[in-house]
Amino acid sequence: MQVVDEKKWQQWVVLGTGGTIAGTATNPSDLTAYTAAQLGVEVLLDAVPGLQETLQGDRLVCEQVAQLDSKDMDHATWQLLAQRCVHWLAQPDVGGIVITHGTDTLEETAWFLQSVLDTRKPVVLTCAMRPATAPMPDGPGNLRDALTVVRHPEACGVLVVCAGGIHRARDVQKVHPSRLDAFSSGEAGPCGRVEHSQVLWAATQALTPVHPHARKALAASVADWPWVEVVYSHAGADARKIHLLVTAGVRGLVVAGTGNGTIHQSLLTALLEARRQGVAVRLTTRCADGQIVGQTAAWQTTAPGLNPFKARIALMLDLMA
Ligand code: ASP
Repeated sequence: MQVVDEKKWQQWVVLGTGGTIAGTATNPSDLTAYTAAQLGVEVLLDAVPGLQETLQGDRLVCEQVAQLDSKDMDHATWQLLAQRCVHWLAQPDVGGIVITHGTDTLEETAWFLQSVLDTRKPVVLTCAMRPATAPMPDGPGNLRDALTVVRHPEACGVLVVCAGGIHRARDVQKVHPSRLDAFSSGEAGPCGRVEHSQVLWAATQALTPVHPHARKALAASVADWPWVEVVYSHAGADARKIHLLVTAGVRGLVVAGTGNGTIHQSLLTALLEARRQGVAVRLTTRCADGQIVGQTAAWQTTAPGLNPFKARIALMLDLMA
């Protein structure tokens, strides 16, 4: 692996997008009744303990790219965020980017950026499970850890840092609605940890190739991005949802199958008909861990290990041909 000389970088960029990390509450001790995306990224940095020691004389540049609750993340914000990353990563003195983000769709944003950014410089997303006004907020420590990781000479690609864990964009998933350590990398495990401001890698860092249609995703109007939906197979599944989507003009369907990619028989005919009409259909599993193995059915699967929502991004990019 190529090891970069840390000393050549002098600037690190922090992009704010909102989330609970920037959230505030009227009653600080209530950890659920708060409004996400209220504070600017500069305010978040002011609260980081030991910021100057972490930066060791390097400069920070901040930019507020968006201010939203990430449950409402949209394609236009993804495109803008990716464009700002491309801009900053192209600056020779910028070593990498930290992005503050809500936890709800963080794994999707991470995978989108991993798919479209053609760089070996690190992009580290971080977040919080408690609002900034909480008595013991987790955001400042997570942001400090993210800055520690982005400055590490072995960091590369898109990473997620939360509660001391370092996760790859491909593997990471939010697995808990409230605990501070809300993310898991499933069977792959985290690729490292931050402990006492030290980065401990569990695995050699490797770059994921950029998607061949990345440039189109950054340049095309998001209104022209292909419409791709996730449909779940479950007990009592009803084929009308497939018919409705096809009639409405969906271009791709990601099926979150049961177990090893099995699909309720009530959906099969509708999916075959959708495919006959030109809709791209990809199969994933709704299981939180593992990936489909030995698939003998006629359905095309996505890149191994992508959850249904990341598979949706992959199919959307595939269809941008
Ligand atoms: N709804 C919030 C968001 O995703 C949750 C969080 O950040 O923890 O922006």
